[in-house]
Amino acid sequence: MAVEIYDVVIKDGRIMDPETATDARMNVGIRNGTISAITSENVSGTEEIDASGLVVCPGFIDMHHHNSGVPFGEKLALRDGVTTPLELEAGITSVRDWYDALKGKCRTNYGASVGSIPVREHIFNPAYTTRYAGDFLYDLMAGGANTTMSWSTQKASASDLKMFESKLREGLDEGAIGIGHAVGYMVAGCTQQESMICQKLAGQNGHSVYLHGRFSSQMPPASGILGTLEMMGPQEVYGGGLVVQHITAQTLNDTAAALELINRARAKGINVLAEVYPYDFGGSIVGADYLHPDNYGPNMGRDYKDIIETATMTPLTEERYAELVKTAPGTSILFYNATEETVHMALSDEQTVLGSDAFPYNLRTTGEVALDWNTPFDAVNGHPRGAGSHARLLRWVREGTVSVSLMNAIGKMSYFIADFLQENGVPGMAQKGRIQIGMDADITLFDPDMVTDNATMQDGGLPSTGIPYVLVNGTLVVRQGETVDDVFPGQPVYGKGLAA
Ligand SMILES: [Zn+2]
Repeated sequence: MAVEIYDVVIKDGRIMDPETATDARMNVGIRNGTISAITSENVSGTEEIDASGLVVCPGFIDMHHHNSGVPFGEKLALRDGVTTPLELEAGITSVRDWYDALKGKCRTNYGASVGSIPVREHIFNPAYTTRYAGDFLYDLMAGGANTTMSWSTQKASASDLKMFESKLREGLDEGAIGIGHAVGYMVAGCTQQESMICQKLAGQNGHSVYLHGRFSSQMPPASGILGTLEMMGPQEVYGGGLVVQHITAQTLNDTAAALELINRARAKGINVLAEVYPYDFGGSIVGADYLHPDNYGPNMGRDYKDIIETATMTPLTEERYAELVKTAPGTSILFYNATEETVHMALSDEQTVLGSDAFPYNLRTTGEVALDWNTPFDAVNGHPRGAGSHARLLRWVREGTVSVSLMNAIGKMSYFIADFLQENGVPGMAQKGRIQIGMDADITLFDPDMVTDNATMQDGGLPSTGIPYVLVNGTLVVRQGETVDDVFPGQPVYGKGLAA
């Protein structure tokens, strides 16, 4: 019998597969981008990785990644074990142009939702012409694309609403992964009727809504729970999935009650998922509705000094806040939100998933948005979640900061997400988030005793360590702890509009 030679073999690693609860030392053989063997027999390959002492688990899938398809963002994602970063919250349009522009150029898999924000900008501001192939957040932050803030404040007329619905539908038909609805950035402009259109379209087409809820507050009348119910109500009627993104930033001290509600809904078969980023501060633009003094102080229990200007890492004053909102509402800031205890509690819930909310980084020298693959890690300012979220959760499990098992933590970053997406309009996810024969060889290897995040508020772009190997579709993109420069194995992840 001929000896089988695989393209890559991973030897003697601790295989951890959340779907089957497999936790055993075995060898993995990979051929043509697919996991072809998982065995305790000896295997040979063109490239062999010694995985003794390492966990071998599904590559991490991140539903909340604003740097999908951006080389510098991809590099940090890979160092953090992420093989599939997806832009599902802010979303994009035009969907076809974005996917076409990235073809053959990505080190990670990539995908995006059609976003209600970019759709609104297209409707209200005909002068908007994208510089980043439909990635509106980059257009907004990097500038030069004739963006305005009308998407945030303008109310839709009856004919606008018709166009809104048809543009979202067009995005789904072109292969978008559901609908991104960051209504928390358009509190005054977006009506409940518009939110209902999003959930109804998701239900009709078998997709999910990816929600940044309308309110970030633990106080009545406009609480984070109420902002979640704005979508859970229509969901009960129209169906479709719903991901409540960065729930701790929305519901703050009410998070335990919000999670109980969501877990009860899940027990009734409702497709709702709560997502958490592992930090007690967020990153955004200074013009965000929820940072308005009427809200941030009384409803979030915070003060101006809890908002930090990213470019200079200086806490704001009342005067500086007012000045920036007036003159430069797109200015990048960090802001404290939920308490650390709330974040740890939310991640200790076995049913929540992790999403990084990785945000664009800014070059320290010029303030420009960092795009280039070769950008030095210490040359940027930005929220550390774009570099360290996944390793941070693994460290927290080791240190006992969160009370879930290592297997559950891996599930929060891979299988639970693949399973939800597969059920909500992303058929390709049936092949991801699993270490099983026949699955896509998106694989992350980490050292459970050493893995750690290194990025901090002061040094937001420092990559994680203790993740020596990462494979995307069977190709090594991290080898011995360093990224590989000249390979582009990333594949598009489409919604069922195109994938079917
Ligand atoms: Zn958000």
